[in-house]
Amino acid sequence: MAKIKRMPLFELGSRRPTTRTIALTVKSGGTAALTGAELRADQARYQEVSCRSALNRVRGMPFFDWTLNVYRGCTHGCHYCFARRYHEQFDMNPDDEFASVILVKINVADVLRHELDRPSWKRELVAVGTATDPYQPIEGHYKLTRRAFEVFAGARTPVSLVTKGPMVVRDRDVLQELDRRARCTVYMSVPTVDEDAWRTLEPGTAHPLQRLRAVRELTDAGIHAGVLMAPIVPGFTSSRSKIERTIKAIADHGARFIGCNVMHLKGGTRTHFMNFIAREFPAMRPRFEKLYATANAPAAYRKEAQAMVNVLQRRYGISKRDEKPSVDRTGERPEDEMPPDGAQVAFAWD
Ligand code: SF4
Repeated sequence: MAKIKRMPLFELGSRRPTTRTIALTVKSGGTAALTGAELRADQARYQEVSCRSALNRVRGMPFFDWTLNVYRGCTHGCHYCFARRYHEQFDMNPDDEFASVILVKINVADVLRHELDRPSWKRELVAVGTATDPYQPIEGHYKLTRRAFEVFAGARTPVSLVTKGPMVVRDRDVLQELDRRARCTVYMSVPTVDEDAWRTLEPGTAHPLQRLRAVRELTDAGIHAGVLMAPIVPGFTSSRSKIERTIKAIADHGARFIGCNVMHLKGGTRTHFMNFIAREFPAMRPRFEKLYATANAPAAYRKEAQAMVNVLQRRYGISKRDEKPSVDRTGERPEDEMPPDGAQVAFAWD
């Protein structure tokens, strides 16, 4: 008689909750209800989730139609980060929980492969890292971003990447391969090289010069890499001397292009940033409230910023950002139409 194989009644297995399950769990019990989230040495908690889709279709952006974000939340914890407000979609707060409760899309590479295998896929440009940093420190453990780039290379799909993580140099072999097969552009985000501003505004990031050294390593490896000097944060990084030092350092490290934008404040990001200013720099609060009566600083201020950058870019011989930029974290077009004589421009508020 044939041996009967016993099957378990319920296959508990190792399936991770979906992002929807996580959202419902947090809604009913707060982040304390994420009992499967692993507390790691950096004091952040990492919740593995299984995603149903990898690519996200975006509309209304000038240069790309698709984005991919491997993680949600970011331990870099920049106070101006526009993605803070997206954490609210999960009923998590855009303050501490944005930087300390990170969702990890553990199956993202497999789902991506499936999506890019579809006959309907037209190999359109995908922007990676538009909402959270694909090379935040936990990527050293999971290597999900690397695996996603391997999939992109296999599917000959062009990619642009935004990061503040020097860890990107670990994957230069895959990026080279991707560039050979399709196209790959790396946008390293370095808003300023001023140490005080860096420590104050971007508490979890690598030193700006470490990021610029990564740009040098990428360009030496033949990868098209430049710098997003964004956002310019009024009162912290906006003085002419700080902008000039930053552009000089960017040029010295062989960046292929540069882009910039002035800080944009909306939703939970606005709430977080204004609370941060009120708590840490109360004397600056009235000026921020005036400058940011709406989500954007006034157009004249933004044009002055771009004009100053234009002048200094020319002085240090570095071109404007790539003709097909991926994104900046404000989600806006850069102010490229600027007053002709930026040399006369100076900020009202350094
Ligand atoms: S700006 Fe970028 S690096 Fe900073 S917290 Fe946001 S996603 Fe992370």
